[in-house]
Amino acid sequence: MAVKSLLGAAVAAVALIVGGPAMAQSQTPPKPHWSIVLHGGAGVIERAEMSPQMDAAYRAGLKAALEAGAAVLKRGGSSVDAVEASIRILEDDPLFNAGRGAVFTAEGKNELDAAVMDGKTLMAGSVAGVTRTRHPISLARAVMEHSPHVMLIGSGADAFAKAQGLEQVDPSFFFTEHRWEGLVKELNKEGRPIPPRPAGAPPPPAQPLAVLEGPDAHRFGTVGVAALDEHGNVAAGTSTGGIQAKLWGRVGDSPIIGAGTYASNQSCAVSATGAGEYFIRLTVAREICALVQYKGMGLQAAADEVIHKQLTALGGDGGVIAMAPDGQVAWSFNTSGMYRAKVSAGGAEMVGIYKDEP
Ligand code: ASP
Repeated sequence: MAVKSLLGAAVAAVALIVGGPAMAQSQTPPKPHWSIVLHGGAGVIERAEMSPQMDAAYRAGLKAALEAGAAVLKRGGSSVDAVEASIRILEDDPLFNAGRGAVFTAEGKNELDAAVMDGKTLMAGSVAGVTRTRHPISLARAVMEHSPHVMLIGSGADAFAKAQGLEQVDPSFFFTEHRWEGLVKELNKEGRPIPPRPAGAPPPPAQPLAVLEGPDAHRFGTVGVAALDEHGNVAAGTSTGGIQAKLWGRVGDSPIIGAGTYASNQSCAVSATGAGEYFIRLTVAREICALVQYKGMGLQAAADEVIHKQLTALGGDGGVIAMAPDGQVAWSFNTSGMYRAKVSAGGAEMVGIYKDEP
């Protein structure tokens, strides 16, 4: 880096001497290209257990979210705008465990967590245990931009959302039959009490929903995005319903800055997915960025170090997507699959689910 900037200064000086100021001005460095990477949750996701319809539905959902974020970046929008645009699409997609389609708590509620961080300013906003705000990612952004705080929880967070004019919905808006069936199945298996079907939920179908029976379809699907805009700024965001059958106001890693979400132009932007308790204890997102920042590691190597060594050694499962201000993009997971997608300026879109995909 130091050698590079010395060289740059020397080239600029020669240009000034040889060609005069006009030529020196034309030597402006090329704009960093925009890039975006996202995940839709990691877990036991095996090709053999996935129906072709489910496979296609997940890929379509990931692609739609990717394209929404890419469109923002393509027209010169900020990385924060791109992160929010992509996550809003995934929050509305019932396949993913965020917004509509979130998993249920053991008490039969949807309690939503989200965070966003701006790598340029190190400003961050997050929310936990939200039950009435349609787009928790937009609420996290409002906390970042319009409150003096970083994190708001529960009814206070929803009240702030309302005051900010963010769309409020009845909690039953987040209800989906496949997540409900997932909760009932898990509680039955563990011999725990089944809560009453939530108020406002549609009547139960005559037949269980075999069509949404994917591998762990009932448990996974947290969403997260990391982006680099053409101004060279990175951002990251994550949104989730947390872990199925979670207890007593449990909060995972997603809304905890440094654990499930982190962004800094000094290092990288990361969004995580997996067993949140492990990601919190390892401060996974910040740890990856610290390896990049202080050890000079490449982004992929840093992500692999934390996921395949540290997380695995502690017994945790999951993965991350990551983006560096110089355009390096990485994903890493120690599960059999992670819903994921990426695209960079001038490149082809890549969408993947299983481990054996590039
Ligand atoms: N990390 C999320 C949490 O622990 C869940 C997930 O990513 O599947 O809340």
